[in-house]
Amino acid sequence: MNDCDEGRGGPVLMWFRRDLRLADNPALAWALRTGRPVIPFFLLDDEERRRGGASRWWLHGSLNALGEDLGRIGSRLVLRSGPAEGAIAALAEEAGASDIVWNRLYEPTLIKRDEGVESRCRDAGMAPRSFNAALLFEPCAVSTRTGRHYRVFTPFWRQCLKQGFEPAEGAVRRLLPPADWPASEELANWRLRPTAPDWASGLREAWQPGEAGARSRLERFLGERASGYAEGREFPADEGTGRLSPHLHFGEVGPRQVAATLGAVEPGSGAGAFLRQIGWREFSHHLLYHNPDMDSVNLQRGFDPMPWRDDPEGLRAWQQGRTGYPLVDAGMRELWTTGWMHNRVRMVAASFLTKHLLIDWRLGARWFLDTLVDADLANNSAGWQWVAGSGADAAPYFRIFNPTAQSQRFDAGGAYLRKWLPELRRLPDKWIHAPWEAPETVLAEAGVGIGETWPRPIVDHREARERALGIYRTVVREGA
Ligand SMILES: Cc1cc2nc3c(=O)[nH]c(=O)nc-3n(C[C@H](O)[C@H](O)[C@H](O)COP(=O)(O)OP(=O)(O)OC[C@H]3O[C@@H](n4cnc5c(N)ncnc54)[C@H](O)[C@@H]3O)c2cc1C
Repeated sequence: MNDCDEGRGGPVLMWFRRDLRLADNPALAWALRTGRPVIPFFLLDDEERRRGGASRWWLHGSLNALGEDLGRIGSRLVLRSGPAEGAIAALAEEAGASDIVWNRLYEPTLIKRDEGVESRCRDAGMAPRSFNAALLFEPCAVSTRTGRHYRVFTPFWRQCLKQGFEPAEGAVRRLLPPADWPASEELANWRLRPTAPDWASGLREAWQPGEAGARSRLERFLGERASGYAEGREFPADEGTGRLSPHLHFGEVGPRQVAATLGAVEPGSGAGAFLRQIGWREFSHHLLYHNPDMDSVNLQRGFDPMPWRDDPEGLRAWQQGRTGYPLVDAGMRELWTTGWMHNRVRMVAASFLTKHLLIDWRLGARWFLDTLVDADLANNSAGWQWVAGSGADAAPYFRIFNPTAQSQRFDAGGAYLRKWLPELRRLPDKWIHAPWEAPETVLAEAGVGIGETWPRPIVDHREARERALGIYRTVVREGA
């Protein structure tokens, strides 16, 4: 793309997708540089409608915030719905636009959609242009010495850091409006928020979707937690992580902005550890781009014969936080209430489903996509496959998290458990991690009845571990 190229004429269409911000938005910045009127729009097509419930709630808030932000710089957000190619062609014709810009996405169905839109626009005599706003390193920008994509994180990230990345751009401060605005649909009519019942009160309490919310999260993290991140990130009660994942997914803040605010990163520092997690996000996108069926197909095909158990009751107990294992149940309830779960607890809960219950990781991944506000096909698929043991990176199948030991180690004082499991609140620290082992007198004093106020564990850890090891060993031996 030539920076001096000012496009063809008429207003420029700016298609907002998962880049719902005014700062460090290369497509929007290009539109501004043409000096012509800009029509920002968002399209609700089947791809967007397919989002899970929590993600749809977030999208409503984020579009609302973006509309207000655009209003402050003399513009607005036009809302349209329908299949992308037709809806965009109609909007372009109505607006007399011959240029359209957007920022690229890397999920297989979105790539296909965008290719369709691109060719339809070209057929109509328009000039589509796309940019990178979502990643530090686009999936094709990093390859091994032999020109292949990476399958292991550490060498991937080492190569990324060697290459360096582009700096973030500033915010757009004024947009020229068109003489006539095309018609817009009403956000409220899209019904992205739940109504009957309204289950989103916990989400409203926990989050502020939009660019301002993202900025304040990032500032708070830098001010209060970044320096202690390397250790603090493991303890779910401490709020030691950035909680930027939904903001990053919707592009309310971009990874270049995050990296820029960290400044010079010393090896072993909190900022270095944080940047490395951003690296995992990059790696997941790299993997998904090069393995487009990664959400449904094992990265290691040797895992295909895995005899997953059909256990709807076990799945339901896991979803509802009723397995009897406090850390798993606290995590699943945090997820249901706030749309988010701490990474350590995600690993333990996912391990419990796939190893203790031997339930197919794809069922767990689906539940996460429906309930997470940061639901993201790349990160979620990579996370589940990593835990299940079928992933690209080294995750030995014999690593089976012991949910009680994890709880004792990472929530020793039980603060996280007490927050999400009120029925266990009065148990002493010693017993809260494994209430079924507590003496009757202790249980009675704390008002806990095993099998009554608190579920009996749905599997015995030791037996479940042996069962999983046996099955995994056979599958790995036969698949190798
Ligand atoms: C089973 C499972 C499912 C997951 N599903 C998702 C998902 O749908 N969406 C999602 O964004 N993350 C997912 N993760 C990764 C991780 O748990 C979250 O990104 C993280 O907990 C978000 O919290 P944070 O913003 O405070 O992270 P921080 O610790 O502050 O990290 C900063 C950012 O780095 C990225 N990041 C951190 N850890 C990872 C990781 N392991 N993989 C990829 N990116 C990472 C996120 O964008 C995060 O916001 C999943 C992990 C597991 C084990």
